[in-house]
Amino acid sequence: MAQDDYDVAIVGASLAGCTAALLFSSMGARVALLEKRSSVDAYKVLCTHSLHASAMPVLERLDLVAALWAAGAAPNHASWWVEWGWITPERDGTVPFGLNLRRQTLDPLLRRRAAAATGVDLMLGHAATAVLERDGRVHGVRATHRGKEIDLTAPLIVGADGRSSAVAAAAGIRTRKSRNLRFGFFSYFRDFPEDDGLSRAWFMGPDCAFSFVNEDGIRVIVAAPNRADHLSAFNADLATSFRDYINALPDAPRIEAAQRISKIIGTTNFPLLQREPSRPGLALIGDAALATDPVWGIGGSWALLSAQWLVDAVANSLNDQQELDSALERYGARHTRALRGHQAQIRRYAKARGFNVAERLMFSAAARDKEMASHLYRFGSRLITPTELLAPRAILRAGKVNLSHAIG
Ligand SMILES: Cc1cc2nc3c(=O)[nH]c(=O)nc-3n(C[C@H](O)[C@H](O)[C@H](O)COP(=O)(O)OP(=O)(O)OC[C@H]3O[C@@H](n4cnc5c(N)ncnc54)[C@H](O)[C@@H]3O)c2cc1C
Repeated sequence: MAQDDYDVAIVGASLAGCTAALLFSSMGARVALLEKRSSVDAYKVLCTHSLHASAMPVLERLDLVAALWAAGAAPNHASWWVEWGWITPERDGTVPFGLNLRRQTLDPLLRRRAAAATGVDLMLGHAATAVLERDGRVHGVRATHRGKEIDLTAPLIVGADGRSSAVAAAAGIRTRKSRNLRFGFFSYFRDFPEDDGLSRAWFMGPDCAFSFVNEDGIRVIVAAPNRADHLSAFNADLATSFRDYINALPDAPRIEAAQRISKIIGTTNFPLLQREPSRPGLALIGDAALATDPVWGIGGSWALLSAQWLVDAVANSLNDQQELDSALERYGARHTRALRGHQAQIRRYAKARGFNVAERLMFSAAARDKEMASHLYRFGSRLITPTELLAPRAILRAGKVNLSHAIG
């Protein structure tokens, strides 16, 4: 049988694809990393780029953390506003935190690292159009480059090509969609007067907003209103609606006193998408497997984590087709196990109905108690599962906190 061109062919050189390429490279694999855009400096515009504490171990493993801080990343400690007040977790080092770095800085940095890694061929300007199948198994990818078609074969093909995954479509993998009843617009600002350097989030019933600090003190200000009450006004006059929405926030960031340095960017239709993460010869990672609600700012962290789960699952199986396909099943199962509970909670919240009873209990207690605030922050960072969030001990403490507030 003819030898394969590579050990792994990864489609998409963004967060998930570059992470996988770097990890495969570290185990000595030959990697084709195909990217449809032709510049190494291309970046994802539609993202507010907060990476959570749950992704930090992956960045550490990639030996990237120091480079990200050196590029100006800001710690992503954030206070959350809820109807019961501000929730502020401990900032004394007992609660791990992630970082914020704009994609225009993060993406090129990561892609250049991947391009320089041993065994990785970064193939810019290569758009995947089809997968090659043999005996019911994916074993290659077809791409176009400057009007020409090329075929590459590898025992493992990875779709890291984002929410509209061409690889998933070519392999006939079904996309499950669920509605998002919010939409989002954001813009970048600098020079806020008396900026305290802290990030903030507002969870106001069905509406949300964010103010995240990034490198060079640049803040991204995000409006995430519910469609029913706000979409027609935003469609009619985006600039005015954005300004009025942000100005109406409790302790609103003073955007009119700051300098706006970008257009208002966003999208009005952003369904949540989910696909089977693996099948014989093929894995999906990052948004290609699960494109969740941006309101929780977690998709980028899960892109890094899913790449790591895949590489760890298949690391010792690339030379044996049968073992590889079992390892791919294990990857798929791990992906589902790790994210199913979170996704169920996120899917429910995307219906823009505000908090359910359990969430109201936890968020109200967190506004009144530091330990509960840190517990909730761990959940927001997806360091703990929804089941752990609602563990009996936490519910008991939340009940006590709220009771003593009510009688005190
Ligand atoms: C408004 C908004 C705000 C967000 N904010 C946050 C946040 O604060 N924090 C967070 O963690 N996440 C956030 N996200 C989610 C985050 O942007 C994604 O989860 C993350 O970018 C997924 O990474 P990825 O590598 O899987 O896919 P992508 O970053 O989408 O990359 C896919 C790559 O594949 C390439 N590609 C696509 N098709 C092909 C093809 N046919 N052939 C070759 N290459 C191809 C693309 O050019 C691209 O480089 C946000 C998303 C949105 C929409």
